[in-house]
Amino acid sequence: MKEREKKRKRKLKEEEKAKNNIPTLTSTEEATSDDKVSKKSSKKQKRDKSTKPSTTKDDTSIIAAPPIPPPTALPPAVKLTPLQQSMRAKLASARFRHLNQTLYTTPSTSSLTLFSDNPEMFTEYHTGFAQQVAGWPENPVDGYVASILSRGKLIEKRDPWAQKNKGQKGQKPKPQPTDTPTTEKALKLLPRNLRGISTIADLGCGTASLSLALQPHLKPLKLAIHSFDLSKPAGAAHGLVTVADVAALPLKDGTVDVAVFCLALMGTNWLDFLDEAYRILRWRGELWVAEIKSRFGRVNRAGKVLAHSVGSQKKAVPFAKKPKPPTKAQNRQLAEAETQVDDQLLSVEVDGVELDAQKQETDVSAFVEVLRKRGFVLDGEEKEAVELGNRMFVKMRFVKGTPPVRGKNVVKEEEVAAMGGKKKMRYLEDLDKEEEDGGDEGAVLKPCVYKLR
Ligand code: SAH
Repeated sequence: MKEREKKRKRKLKEEEKAKNNIPTLTSTEEATSDDKVSKKSSKKQKRDKSTKPSTTKDDTSIIAAPPIPPPTALPPAVKLTPLQQSMRAKLASARFRHLNQTLYTTPSTSSLTLFSDNPEMFTEYHTGFAQQVAGWPENPVDGYVASILSRGKLIEKRDPWAQKNKGQKGQKPKPQPTDTPTTEKALKLLPRNLRGISTIADLGCGTASLSLALQPHLKPLKLAIHSFDLSKPAGAAHGLVTVADVAALPLKDGTVDVAVFCLALMGTNWLDFLDEAYRILRWRGELWVAEIKSRFGRVNRAGKVLAHSVGSQKKAVPFAKKPKPPTKAQNRQLAEAETQVDDQLLSVEVDGVELDAQKQETDVSAFVEVLRKRGFVLDGEEKEAVELGNRMFVKMRFVKGTPPVRGKNVVKEEEVAAMGGKKKMRYLEDLDKEEEDGGDEGAVLKPCVYKLR
């Protein structure tokens, strides 16, 4: 009897327990809590698995049942209507343009503060930037990577030291077989230090795509890459970037072989960036500049008023000033050309299709002249040193190769005194010319506004 009583009590207890703990599946809320329960039991099952034999088929099906999502908690992106999606894209685009304009129209010290106070803005900026570049015929960084690879490999194959050691004493070294196409034979070796290392500084590196792409080649090609920007990118490149304003770099004088400004001459003090590049570069070190075409002066192809005269020694015309054309017709054509590029803010909207349709040539002569005053000369023939082929951007290659008459690196008096006869004469002449020139150099590059659609 006692035993039966006990059994009955136990059954009653179990029934009571079941009533309190196990919800009936009648509403979503309960389903959610059930989900919690099944998760709990799932954890328990897992724990138990290690010590006990596996559970029955039915138990497994309960554990594996997909959770029922709460009705209001769908991810926002999935929930957005097409209209909302387009509004969101427009907002992102407007924020990118605003940020971009800020970077072009303020000194770099304020941009550095802006990004250090709001690091998320850097990601936002580069999302917009990548979207922009994706619509271009080519990303200038890709060209730079290709160029470093081909010129870097070239040095391995044609290294005079390596070849000397291979050939017999006094014999002219035999040309080495090379997989470089014949058209690339004229390629210049990548500049290197005495230990054979080429140090490249990517100034305004963004998401450091140059460094990322070159990582597998650093050792074999003896490359060292420094990447600087106002903020660190998220993801794989995070550790590759040093936060610094390119107007004040944490690098010693004369320690860099190639300095790259790929679409990065952005602050109102971009001339300071050039001075800093001059400081860190070795003598004959290279400066690579890629810039949006429409930031420079433009020439109407039909009129040919301002002949494309890159590297010419004649006095350059600062962009904001109107030169004096000799005839009325030329004057009219010049005005036409200028109206097209000169809006109220002296800023330019970038849109590849429109640029192409305008069929204008880019006149980089004023820019080249600004660089010459700061100690940079075009690297060789104009047709090799200036690439105008692309409808979006211009690429120019300079070398640190003349004493600066402007900016922070102007040669000190005692150094001028120590110069040899001819060199000294030439420098003093340049200084005189420079005093006559004047002009608003900062206006030679206009701020650029990307057009996102
Ligand atoms: N060179 C990269 C990124 C171009 S976007 C590429 O071509 O993909 C321009 C970059 O220059 C931005 O990331 C911006 O933050 C950086 N920049 C502009 N002014 C700078 C400055 N004073 N110092 C460091 N970086 C700067």
